[in-house]
Amino acid sequence: MSTQIDKAAEVIKNAKHLTAFTGAGISVESGIPPFRGDDGIWSKYDPAILELSTYLEKPETVWPVIRKLFYNYFVAAKPNNAHKALASMERKVMLKGVITQNIDNLHQEAGNTEVIEFHGNSKTFICTHNPSHVASSQDVDFEQPYPKCPKCGHLTKPSFIFFGEVIPTGAFMKSEKHARECDVMLVIGSTGEVVPASNIPWLAKRNGATIIEVNPQPTTFTYNISDITLKGKAGEVLSELDAKL
Ligand code: NAD
Repeated sequence: MSTQIDKAAEVIKNAKHLTAFTGAGISVESGIPPFRGDDGIWSKYDPAILELSTYLEKPETVWPVIRKLFYNYFVAAKPNNAHKALASMERKVMLKGVITQNIDNLHQEAGNTEVIEFHGNSKTFICTHNPSHVASSQDVDFEQPYPKCPKCGHLTKPSFIFFGEVIPTGAFMKSEKHARECDVMLVIGSTGEVVPASNIPWLAKRNGATIIEVNPQPTTFTYNISDITLKGKAGEVLSELDAKL
């Protein structure tokens, strides 16, 4: 394993444009469960709960689950060693950007400045009646049966992507740009089963990037596009890697 980390460190040191692509796994050591796997959210809940149409039709049924699945964890979560290692790589002027599927804000809290939130974020809410009514999550009363827009009282929705919604255009375009321009991509804690997000590492690979994967388990990337596989928990592996840079 140490040899693989040395190899990855050499590749990164020679990189002209390093980008990271992260999934739910990078936040597991911060106490936030992933969607898939034995302890994943989908082992306990029906994914239909995150369909946009379900939220619009039955917000009072969906909201308590969203609150429990996401917000209750986010309140206590702090950046772990993996988030900190990526922030350190940016400070060392190696890492040009982090494309994340996560909505937990932990990359920003760790200090990364170029964070592309592919699936939106959980910090703001957008009114379903008037989309110009955007509110901070702090201004939304979580104790109501469903969240109401602080400006007009209609149903408001977290600004992360539900099933049935399109990827935010800006995030999509920026992610594709990084994928085309990077010569090394770190792929951390993602099963690669969520499309179109999982297309990003494939696009990087097609454009000639070296793919370095960090995950305790094999993924859809591992035997297909990963050039270097660092098997293990993101916090441990990335700390060791960053120390060699
Ligand atoms: P996933 O839930 O499909 O898979 C998680 C991956 O993380 C697995 O490959 C697993 O082996 C790996 N993993 C588990 N522990 C790890 C660790 N300590 N270090 C490194 N890797 C570890 O995740 P996904 O592919 O990102 O897709 C799920 C979707 O879920 C995404 O769209 C994301 O938006 C959303 N999600 C986000 C959060 C969050 O914001 N923290 C949490 C749950 C789900």
